[in-house]
Amino acid sequence: MASPSIVWFRDDLRLTDNPALRAALDRDEPIVALYLLDEESDGVREIGGAARWWLHGSLTSLGERVSERGGSLVLRRGKAAEVVPALVEEVGAGAVFWNRRYGGVEREIDAGIKEKLRDDGVTVASFAANLLYEPWTVRTQSDKPYGVYSPFARAVQKLPAPRPPMPEARKIPGFDGSVDGDDLGAWGLLPTKPDWAGGLRETWEPGEPAAKARLKEFLDDDLGDYSKYRDEFAGGATSNLSPRLRWGELSPYQVWHDTLEHRGSGQHAQSASGFLSELVWREFAWHVTYHSPDIATVNWRRTFDAFPWPELDRSHLETWQQGKTGVAVVDAGMRQLWHTGVMHNRVRMVTASFLIKNLLIDWRHGEQWFWDCLVDADAASNPFNWQWVAGSGADAAPYFRVFNPDTQRKKFDPHDAYVKEWAPEYLGENPPEPMVDLGETRKRALDAYSHVRHGG
Ligand code: FAD
Repeated sequence: MASPSIVWFRDDLRLTDNPALRAALDRDEPIVALYLLDEESDGVREIGGAARWWLHGSLTSLGERVSERGGSLVLRRGKAAEVVPALVEEVGAGAVFWNRRYGGVEREIDAGIKEKLRDDGVTVASFAANLLYEPWTVRTQSDKPYGVYSPFARAVQKLPAPRPPMPEARKIPGFDGSVDGDDLGAWGLLPTKPDWAGGLRETWEPGEPAAKARLKEFLDDDLGDYSKYRDEFAGGATSNLSPRLRWGELSPYQVWHDTLEHRGSGQHAQSASGFLSELVWREFAWHVTYHSPDIATVNWRRTFDAFPWPELDRSHLETWQQGKTGVAVVDAGMRQLWHTGVMHNRVRMVTASFLIKNLLIDWRHGEQWFWDCLVDADAASNPFNWQWVAGSGADAAPYFRVFNPDTQRKKFDPHDAYVKEWAPEYLGENPPEPMVDLGETRKRALDAYSHVRHGG
C-alpha cells in the first residue's frame, strides 16, 4: 500500500531548487503537497495586508503548477502542531518533508512537530533552502554570532560556496485517495471592501514563472549598471527580487549562482559583487534574527530601552502613513509603498529616519506600517532595517545620522523623476510646507538620543 509523502510548503513557493520536494520525489511515493495558513499558533506574527495579497497570487500559481505536473496542492488552515499530524494520519503518510524556517516561534513549532511525528514512526526531514548559510554555522572566533556586517561577510566568504540549485520538479506523482482542502478564495486574503490592491495588480505578477523571468531580465539587462544606479530613486535599476525571495518563489541559491554565471569581468563583475553583497545583507538580517528572535519588538541594543520616546502623536503617524508630511521624498516614498507594495531601499531609509528622528515616533510603529504595506514584508529584513535606521540594531547607523530628505533628493533624484511620479505637487509653484522644521527636529532628536548615549 502506498505511504505518501507530505511536502509542507511554507516560505518556499517554488518547484525549482526545492530540497523538500526533491526528497519526496526521491522517496518515490505519491505526494501530498500542503500549504497551511497558521494564524492561530501562539506568537506567530500575522502577515500584513499586502503580503496576504501576494500570498493569494503565489499560491494560485503554485497550485496550478503542481496540478499540471500531476499532483494537487492541499490548503489547510489552523494550528500547525495540530493540522500537520492530523493530515499525516488522514492520508497515512510515511514521510513529511519541509524546508527550514528561522523565526523563533516557527522553529519551536517545527521542532515539536518533528518530535511528535518521529515518535509515531514517521520519517521527517528538513532542509536548508531559504538561506545560503545556516545561522548556527557562522560564528566569530570566540564562538559568538556576528553583530557587525563586514566581518560577517568576510566569514561567509571563507565558508564552502553555496551548493548549486536543484532542477525543477517536472512530475509530481499525485495521491489517489481523497483529501479535502480549503478553497483559497475562502481564506479572504484579497482585499474586497475596499479593494485597495489595484496598484499591486498593476505592478506585480506573483508566482514562480514571473520570478524566474524577472531574474533573467535583471541579469541579462541590468546587472552591469546595478552598482552605478542602484541608489537612484527612479529608474528601476535594482532587481525587484525582494518579494520573490521573501516568498521563496526563487531561492537565494538560484539568484547567487545565476548571478555568478552572468558575472563577466571588470566593471560588470564589480557590479555583480555589489549585488551579491546585498544578498549577504539578507543573510545577515536573518542570522541576527535567528539569534534575537524578538527583533520586531525589542531593541537589539538594550541601551536603547532608555530612549525617551514622547507620547505617540497619532495624527503625526497618520500624516506620515498617508504621505502628507510636506517633505517631497518622504511623501513620494510613502505613496510608492501604498501603491506598489515596495519602496526604493534608500527611500525606505529616508522615510524611516524621518519618522523616528524628525517626528520622534518609536521605530516599532513604522515597522508595523511597513509590515502591513510591503509585499516583501520580511520577518527579519524589516525589523532589522528599522532598527538599523533607529540606531538600536546590529551594525546600525550611528544615532546621530539623521537623513536629510532634501539632500538625499538632490543627490539621488537629481532630475526629480521620482518626485514627479509620486508627488508631483512638489514641482508646482506652491509646494506643500513641511509638517515640521527639519533642522529643529534634527536637533531635538540628537538631544533625545543623548539619553541613550549617556545611558539614560
Ligand atoms: P536589490 O538592490 O536588487 O537587492 C537584491 C536583494 O538583496 C533584495 O531583493 C533583498 O532580498 C536583499 N537586500 C537588499 N538590501 C537589503 C537590506 N538592506 N537588508 C536585507 N536584505 C537586503 N527588504 C525586504 O526584503 N523585506 C523587508 O521587509 C524590508 N524592509 C525594509 C525596511 C527598511 C526601513 C529598510 C531601510 C530596508 C528594508 N528592506 C527590506 C531592505 C531593502 O530595502 C529591500 O530588500 C530592497 O529595497 C528590495 O529591492 P530589490 O529587490 O530591488 O533590491
